[in-house]
Amino acid sequence: MRIAIAGGGLGGLTLARILHRHGIGAVVYEREASRSARSQGGLLDLHPESGQRALDEAGLTGEFRSEARPEGEEHRILDPAGRTLVHHRPEPGSFAGRPEIDRRVLRDLLLDAVPAGTVRWGHRLVAATPRPGGGFELGFEGGREAGCDVLVGADGARSVVRSLLTDAPLSHVATLAELGIADADRRHPDLAELVGPGNLWCVGASRILAAQRLGDGGIRVGISLPADGHPIDAYRDKHALLELFDGWDPRLTALIAAGDGPPTLRRIEAMPAGTRWAHRPGLTLVGDAAHLMPPVGEGANQAMLDAAELAAALAADSADPGAAIRAYEAAMFERIHPVAEMSARVQAMMLSPTAAEDIVRFFAPRPTER
Ligand SMILES: Cc1cc2nc3c(=O)[nH]c(=O)nc-3n(C[C@H](O)[C@H](O)[C@H](O)COP(=O)(O)OP(=O)(O)OC[C@H]3O[C@@H](n4cnc5c(N)ncnc54)[C@H](O)[C@@H]3O)c2cc1C
Repeated sequence: MRIAIAGGGLGGLTLARILHRHGIGAVVYEREASRSARSQGGLLDLHPESGQRALDEAGLTGEFRSEARPEGEEHRILDPAGRTLVHHRPEPGSFAGRPEIDRRVLRDLLLDAVPAGTVRWGHRLVAATPRPGGGFELGFEGGREAGCDVLVGADGARSVVRSLLTDAPLSHVATLAELGIADADRRHPDLAELVGPGNLWCVGASRILAAQRLGDGGIRVGISLPADGHPIDAYRDKHALLELFDGWDPRLTALIAAGDGPPTLRRIEAMPAGTRWAHRPGLTLVGDAAHLMPPVGEGANQAMLDAAELAAALAADSADPGAAIRAYEAAMFERIHPVAEMSARVQAMMLSPTAAEDIVRFFAPRPTER
């Protein structure tokens, strides 16, 4: 069984690693030229029931614990006047919750755990053509070709493989402007103290100014706006962003002013919650390729759990990969539907005109909690 995985992100690498532990080889085709070709972004919190479970099945819990930053779980939510609405402090040193880890560190940990040569860098998949006897011919940018019996699309938000299974549309759900502040402790100690060891969210009417502390001492700043009425091109410089936060506490907007360089702008997109497809032999999807959802803390966790469940199914039924994929897809569709609906609801709440009040209600302890 020749397994090809398109995409060497968190989903694709987790799959390759767990398959390897079961003695099943796979090749990961990754479009980027090398592991350091692109910045991997900020922090992720890994949930015990999904991301951490997958790492456990990958045999990497020890490595995760030595690289994770449980103190990064600390978060505060402020209103535009700088008043604290919510302040969560984790138990010192505890891994009981959702410890944070830098995305780059997590990806490196997975890359180091697959056999040498598993990842073929510089392979952007552009076509996958079914072969008459089963399997696929793969075509890569630049003209290279390869074949496989099973193709797994782990190629992210704009997946090429997805179109072989579903024509579910992507909708624009938010606009994100990102800024970086390097070496914050030395260059901006006041901002380093404001952000703390984890995440800070400043929530106003239909806009969020967020900041997170990275493991390298930098700060990543993100400004989220609803998709409607905010043309992405309007925010190519920091002054346009600062105008959006006119009247906010200047200690908060200093996070924008201190950004190194111009903002990086991103369209945040999502697939309809509940997307499913009819089974096709030898073909499936994991992660954002399967279920792109608003980024409220589930996407990477679910991508890694998809990978763990698909690997377990293929290992349990290696003589019949079609049956294994069918079983994986049925369980994944059931699991993802409520998660995607919840993510859409939280995203809408975070960017609503009454976000601050809604968030305080959302984080309020339930009657059974202390
Ligand atoms: C701003 C933001 C913040 C987020 N925060 C969180 C969070 O805190 N917690 C969380 O759980 N999730 C978070 N997410 C979601 C998370 O990033 C994704 O759900 C997760 O990365 C999906 O993993 P993946 O492996 O499916 O895709 P990706 O991580 O996108 O990996 C896809 C890989 O495929 C490669 N690729 C793409 N096309 C091709 C091609 N044609 N051929 C070959 N290779 C290709 C890419 O280069 C990439 O390496 C966030 C998302 C955003 C946008």
